[in-house]
Amino acid sequence: MSVADIMKTRNTFSFEVFPPKTDVGMEKLCGEGGVLEQLYTMHPDYISCTYGAGGSNVGKNLEVLDKIKADGKATPVTHFTCIGNTKDDIREKLQNYLDHGINHILALRGDLPFGWTGTNGDLHYATELVKFIRQEFDDQFTIAVAGSPEGHIQCRSLEADISFLKQKQDNGANYIISQLCWDMDQFRYWLDAIRAAGIWLPVDVGIMPITTISGTLTNALSRNACVMPRELCEIISKYWIFPNPYDPAPYDADAEKKKEDFHKAGLDYTIGLVDQYRACDIAGIHLYALNKYEDVAYIVKNSGIVDLI
Ligand code: FAD
Repeated sequence: MSVADIMKTRNTFSFEVFPPKTDVGMEKLCGEGGVLEQLYTMHPDYISCTYGAGGSNVGKNLEVLDKIKADGKATPVTHFTCIGNTKDDIREKLQNYLDHGINHILALRGDLPFGWTGTNGDLHYATELVKFIRQEFDDQFTIAVAGSPEGHIQCRSLEADISFLKQKQDNGANYIISQLCWDMDQFRYWLDAIRAAGIWLPVDVGIMPITTISGTLTNALSRNACVMPRELCEIISKYWIFPNPYDPAPYDADAEKKKEDFHKAGLDYTIGLVDQYRACDIAGIHLYALNKYEDVAYIVKNSGIVDLI
């Protein structure tokens, strides 16, 4: 059954991993007793694998998806971007996924590599990619698309961003995975706004576990400009590592203890988010596993996510 069909009957629960750069990383993720096998024990509906901007790591992306497909414990979903791809490239690469039995795709414009101003490919936006996939492959793919509750960082307005999301639906997308958003009031506003705009696609909520101060700040600011609620800022302040959390050799005598305490507080904060999301009209929870299982296992166990199934 496709992920979109499951969403018609109940909420889904899924993980996201990325293609490791090294053989050691691949073994850790895909080897016997590795991270994927640990993730399967939580019975996710699907596991998605990211696609390197500019096409880097594509080989390993397919290796990871092949492993998920062969194991048969969760539906493999590939991410795919317009970056650097001609229409011929896209046709060939997507046919290759189908030949490998991978028929679920998250269709993205892609993060522009540093210094780029466009995709350097034949397609410029995710709307075009969705349309192209439907034209070339009809209904062979289940297509997910990204939605940004706070508005994509480059959008000219939230309204414009929502209208492009509507276009993704009109072009044939099946469901939305939402971008990182900690601002629950904004999320609820966005959900109402997209429904008012005629977007009925199910919304699967992308959740990044909060585990380190530096990672949280980077996720919030490097690409997305996410609002950080006061409660999250207070946790960050409480466990701040001096001189700053990016310093490889902090002079803060409590640095290790603060890291540990922040980690626990961050995971509990993430569980609070899961609770709030589940009280909205959503279709699933999509946890960024970051190629580790301990943190997401803690969240799954203590939030009761499995009760969704
Ligand atoms: P689009 O929907 O194309 O939007 C990009 C910008 O253009 C927006 O500001 C939008 O408002 C504007 N826009 C859209 N259509 C038009 C139009 N017709 N005319 C004018 N403006 C328009 N990136 C990767 O490189 N690899 C990954 O694996 C990856 N995985 C991701 C997973 C998830 C769940 C999410 C939410 C994001 C992921 N990203 C990934 C990041 C994503 O590629 C970036 O956020 C990217 O900058 C935008 O992609 P998009 O598909 O949302 O773009």
